[in-house]
Amino acid sequence: MTITGSCMCGGTTYAIEADSYLAALCHCTDCQKWTGGAFTSNAVVPRSSFKVTKGTPSAYDAVGASGKVNKHFFCPTCGSSLYTELEIMPDNTVVKAGGLDGGEANLRGKIDIEFYVKDRPSYLAPVEGAKQEPMFG
Ligand SMILES: [Zn+2]
Ligand SMILES: [Zn+2]
Repeated sequence: MTITGSCMCGGTTYAIEADSYLAALCHCTDCQKWTGGAFTSNAVVPRSSFKVTKGTPSAYDAVGASGKVNKHFFCPTCGSSLYTELEIMPDNTVVKAGGLDGGEANLRGKIDIEFYVKDRPSYLAPVEGAKQEPMFG
């Protein structure tokens, strides 16, 4: 199936050809800074299944705890956080789920794993049934 997503202004759109994905929350401080939120919700998909269908995202390279580059893609017009490509996960694209269309931002109501729970704000409870990783795992 085709899953689509877009930024806030609609200048950037993308499509994913996948039936399923890994649903992951990340509580790391880079995700907090980048989005201005408490965590990122993500659909981790095969990189070959993902393509930008409109616009040209800008990118910012952050160096992760691993010492490897985490490439952050965002809309150059409205600044929406769109997806990341991690050097340590060359076969995947980490799509920020808030950009997904048609209710898919709900991640089908099921979170598989939470990363960097050591940085999770104390007002948030762990998601029931989600694997808990103190850092990246
Ligand atoms: Zn935009
Ligand atoms: Zn993170």
